[in-house]
Amino acid sequence: MVTISVKEKREKSVLRRHPWLFTGAVHRVEGTPQDGEEVRVLDQRGAFLARGLYAADSQICCRLYRWEDEAIDTAFWTNQIRRVTENRTRLLNETTNACRLVNAEGDGLPGLVIDRYDRVFVMQCGTAGTRRWKTAIAEFLAEAFNAAAVVEKSEGREKTGTAETQAPSRRSKQEAVVEIVENGLKYRVDILHGQKTGFYLDQRENRALIRSVAQGRKVLDCFSYTGAFAVSALAGGAEKVTCVDASRTALKLAQENTRANGFALPEEAFVQANVFEYLRQCETRFDLIVLDPPALAKHRRDTQSGARAYKDVNMQAMQKLTPGGLLLTCSCSQHISPDLFQKIVFSAAYDSRRHACILQERSHALDHPINIYHPEGRYLHAFLLRID
Ligand code: SAH
Repeated sequence: MVTISVKEKREKSVLRRHPWLFTGAVHRVEGTPQDGEEVRVLDQRGAFLARGLYAADSQICCRLYRWEDEAIDTAFWTNQIRRVTENRTRLLNETTNACRLVNAEGDGLPGLVIDRYDRVFVMQCGTAGTRRWKTAIAEFLAEAFNAAAVVEKSEGREKTGTAETQAPSRRSKQEAVVEIVENGLKYRVDILHGQKTGFYLDQRENRALIRSVAQGRKVLDCFSYTGAFAVSALAGGAEKVTCVDASRTALKLAQENTRANGFALPEEAFVQANVFEYLRQCETRFDLIVLDPPALAKHRRDTQSGARAYKDVNMQAMQKLTPGGLLLTCSCSQHISPDLFQKIVFSAAYDSRRHACILQERSHALDHPINIYHPEGRYLHAFLLRID
């Protein structure tokens, strides 16, 4: 097997079980590893450190999976998936039938995300290593969970796993939509054409929070996508709800989702617009605003510009709130720390001349664990604020 030795002092992060090995930490590669191939990682004196999967054209040249000198084989994948999904499936019941089954590094399986939508499983293989194993994983899912379909949807490309026999096909839009229930509310999830795996499961508990505070409020759901927050607010007794998103198809699904739950909103409740411009021009005032933008700082180099964008949009939202209004503001940018996000919200409040209180600090739902050795996995930060 190919071995990679790590530079002196750089073995520390491996010993601390961080699952990423960067090219800069590599001392020597013995052999010519193929993309995605299993490798042994050693310290400079040749002592075993870990086993991982090689990535030829990534700064992270190796993702680590095992710290004992044992194979990353089919048994490893199936045992690990079985282990992590055991308590995960406890989340599922008659009122919630969708959850994240495997959360990549958070579950000791770097690069692998598996979301379950009722009996349809969606896999994202983000690395060469996980792509090598996708067939075995898909076959295991199909058998172990009696899946109706296992769909591989990696990095924006729509690819189908081999184990799927009844998977939604690319051609039929209708079949690509799965109906799920979350806390008793129905959502249609467009797996093939939607974003990520189709639905933002990480916000489940924050949607429940919005439902619990929405009674009688005029609600604005910014970056609404398929209206998941909007539906929750309506279920919580919101007086009026407006969804704003740049995507027409997302808004169409948002409309279907509100209808499916028995709420009839007028056409003008679904606004296709750039949220930044919409808020700037908006003359209406709201009692509850949800701000759940896409990652505005995707890369470390975007941290500053991202922080400015977060501040801008938060400031605009605060100005559109009635006194005593609530703002759920979220950041899903890995490079914006909770501390930085709080500072951004602070300066937004200061510049909008509003007083803000943090009612709650929130993060992702229970089915999105963070590996303590991999703090980078902690990406979703949110505050529920009262704006006076
Ligand atoms: N709140 C949603 C998830 C939001 S994902 C949920 O809980 O399901 C981010 C959304 O922002 C996407 O739907 C995308 O279309 C939209 N978006 C991205 N940039 C935007 C912009 N500048 N203005 C409006 N919508 C935008």
